[in-house]
Amino acid sequence: MSAIDNLPPLREVIATHELNARKSLGQNFLLDLNLTSKIARQAGDLTGCDVLEIGPGPGGLTRGLLAEGARRVLAIEKDSRCIPALAEVAAAYDGRLQVIEGDALEVNPLVYLTPPIRVAANLPYNVGTELLVRWLTPQQWPPFWTSLTLMFQKEVAERIVATPGSKAYGRLAILAQWRADARIVINLPPEAFSPPPKVSSAVVHLTALEEPRYPADPSVLSRVVAAAFNQRRKMLRASLKGVAPDIEDRLLAAGIKPTERAEQVSLEGFCALAREIKKT
Ligand code: SAM
Repeated sequence: MSAIDNLPPLREVIATHELNARKSLGQNFLLDLNLTSKIARQAGDLTGCDVLEIGPGPGGLTRGLLAEGARRVLAIEKDSRCIPALAEVAAAYDGRLQVIEGDALEVNPLVYLTPPIRVAANLPYNVGTELLVRWLTPQQWPPFWTSLTLMFQKEVAERIVATPGSKAYGRLAILAQWRADARIVINLPPEAFSPPPKVSSAVVHLTALEEPRYPADPSVLSRVVAAAFNQRRKMLRASLKGVAPDIEDRLLAAGIKPTERAEQVSLEGFCALAREIKKT
């Protein structure tokens, strides 16, 4: 029996269900249930919330979320080998866990969830980044989620919370900080996972703001920052040439020098530029 529930320890679950980690699915499992409960606590008060978990694997974080009192957990897992292990968790937690076998990039979870909804995940970083960008850029705001608690490679986590002028500052920082409060809440060494990845990891907690910090159209802002940071060493008048006609005039109207580089421009500046571009 484990420290948090009546289910077997995760090592036993992995052995019983022969869940040898697959690199192609980015499988680095968390085996310490005290740690998964700690991550679940960082997601905020879960009682009265539905939680969307992406990539539950053998169920370590899932059990943490349930043990911390989530009203319901909807877990989407691509690896069919994990489904029987997760069914045991569902049985032990009185139907509060629903598991969907599928690719999180393709499944629409919203039909299964009732607000308030929090999101928690320990995902391969490429899938995590893609989902984070989607969750941050819907046309309508506020979004379906009140918070996101996500594990990333440390370097990606640092990009989410980066400030202007730093090397890590870019598209992720702007999209995250425009519509959310974002902070790193836990740092984890490679040894926290089995098998250990090559790099350190960090959990980022994002809380959705009621309103974006500055007005801007999400698709225009996304396009502008993608182009600006794609060629981050170029002056903006060059990197943004293809984004809109008369780009120098628009940069000036937004209060940005056309000779500046992307990493010198604040979030407020990029939002002003997106509004200038949207005008035509
Ligand atoms: N949450 C578990 C934990 O913390 O131990 C597993 C984490 S492991 C880093 C990532 C999990 O995401 C794996 O179980 C993997 O099979 C799953 N996964 C990978 N790509 C996925 C996708 N596109 N959709 C859903 N699950 C995915």
